[in-house]
Amino acid sequence: MKVLVLNAGSSSIKYQLFDSAEWRVLAHGLIARIGEEAGELKLNWYDAAGAAQSRQETRPIPTHQAGLDLLIADLRERGLLADVTELAAIGHRVVHGGPNFNHPMIVDDAVVAEIESVIPLAPLHNPGHLAGIAVARQLFPSVPSVAVFDTAFHQTMPPTAYRYAIPEFLYTEHRIRRYGFHGTSHHYVAKRAAALLGKPLAKCNLITLHLGNGASASAIRNGQCVDTSMGLTPLEGLVMGTRCGDIDPAVAIYALKNLGLDADGVDQLLNRQSGLLGICGVNDMREIDLRAAAGDAAAELAIGITAHRLKKYIGAYSAELGAVDAIVFTGGIGENAAGIRQRACADLERLGIVLDDTLNAARKPSGERRISTPASAVQVLVIPTNEELEIAQQALAAVSPIE
Ligand code: ADP
Repeated sequence: MKVLVLNAGSSSIKYQLFDSAEWRVLAHGLIARIGEEAGELKLNWYDAAGAAQSRQETRPIPTHQAGLDLLIADLRERGLLADVTELAAIGHRVVHGGPNFNHPMIVDDAVVAEIESVIPLAPLHNPGHLAGIAVARQLFPSVPSVAVFDTAFHQTMPPTAYRYAIPEFLYTEHRIRRYGFHGTSHHYVAKRAAALLGKPLAKCNLITLHLGNGASASAIRNGQCVDTSMGLTPLEGLVMGTRCGDIDPAVAIYALKNLGLDADGVDQLLNRQSGLLGICGVNDMREIDLRAAAGDAAAELAIGITAHRLKKYIGAYSAELGAVDAIVFTGGIGENAAGIRQRACADLERLGIVLDDTLNAARKPSGERRISTPASAVQVLVIPTNEELEIAQQALAAVSPIE
């Protein structure tokens, strides 16, 4: 059988098509600029001989439905999906599942209503996901759609971790609490870490660090998330590409009172103009590395603040967990930026963390690997994330009868 994974935004749909037999990627790509004159269709696939092929087309794609219609026609033409009956499930990435979803859900009207009800908590994401879900249900009524939530893995946090020290009515009446995001990625790398450690996940204590354009840390005890750095929204926690992460909330009040900004202006300031971009004018870590190496003080400071914040979270989560089996780096920065890893883990011998500088700096191998010394009580691992695979596997598991 095959599983289609969709990550639908307000004007784009990213997709991957898997063969569930050995979880091979058959095709992946992007439907972009939906609703604009020059919509874009990108398809990458593997032909019968296993050779990578790609095709790109610019044409009007008025709606999500038109985009998916074109995609299915493309897949059919290349023999990748002869008929939609080959699809066991469609897995949908949903950023915010609110307080009630702690596992993937086969989508029905009640699930749609619940995802709608948390739109105020994720106004930039959930409407796009809902558009993708609506079209999938309409075009393929016989194929179950499964919503896989970024928040679900974090639902095991205790109230001491997920409640904020603010008046209770904000929680009871407005559902304001820590939710956490990137859960699919934290869960995936935690499972892979357990496999590398040779232990069941249920016996692993881990600190997982997903460092991409967005960044978050999770503390995992006995395989379950007990704390995470993102909060009500993905703004809290680590330094990110354009998001500030942890700051004194009074910064927002100051901006409202003194900078002539309204709520949307403050939202833009903290979500889109801050983080690495705000500190040094660039949000691409590769560029920042090059600039810092060339002596740019702002770029150096951006790296310094990022690593300092990471180290604080490693320390905090080490204290929360007591014993840590492994720290896992993932995401574009976590997988590639050796300098950030080195600074975040430096001088933590007392916490049992000893990086092997040669293994850390080596560019090859680039896959799953250990970068700590054999003497390090806490293993430090690099594990490339694969959120699409995790969504596909969770979607198939959700529609498969329990054995
Ligand atoms: P997203 O959150 O959009 O999925 P990614 O996980 O792809 O993002 O991470 C993007 C970040 O990873 C960018 O800051 C990018 O510069 C950084 N990155 C990718 N490759 C490297 C590299 N070789 N060295 C340093 N940073 C890298």
